Amino acid sequence: MWEMLRCAWVGMTLKCPACKTGRVYRSLTEMNHACPNCGVVFEREEGDFLGAMVVAYSVTAVLLGVGIYVVEVLTDLAPMLHVLLWSLVATAFILLTYRNMKGIWLGILHVMMGLTR
Ligand SMILES: [Zn+2]
Repeated sequence: MWEMLRCAWVGMTLKCPACKTGRVYRSLTEMNHACPNCGVVFEREEGDFLGAMVVAYSVTAVLLGVGIYVVEVLTDLAPMLHVLLWSLVATAFILLTYRNMKGIWLGILHVMMGLTR
């Protein structure tokens, strides 16, 4: 469990979950196929990105749940403004953090599959 959390955290920082130093991305949008430092393969299967989408959806859902609750308790915001506000927040959050979410999934996969070279 702790190993999975540790690897997910390392992945979120966009570092290789195996060696913790290699960069997951070579540019803003291009992911390395393998770690430039230790050679562990990052993208093993075609559908690996689906797990990243599940992570992104889950983290965003929890964030929105907490945000909606806090804003509802502290303010008197109209329901339509809630919808508008949280739609924008969710979209921005996913766009800004998708690479990190993919890194989290990479860390989880690393532990689950025992990924080596
Ligand atoms: Zn590495």
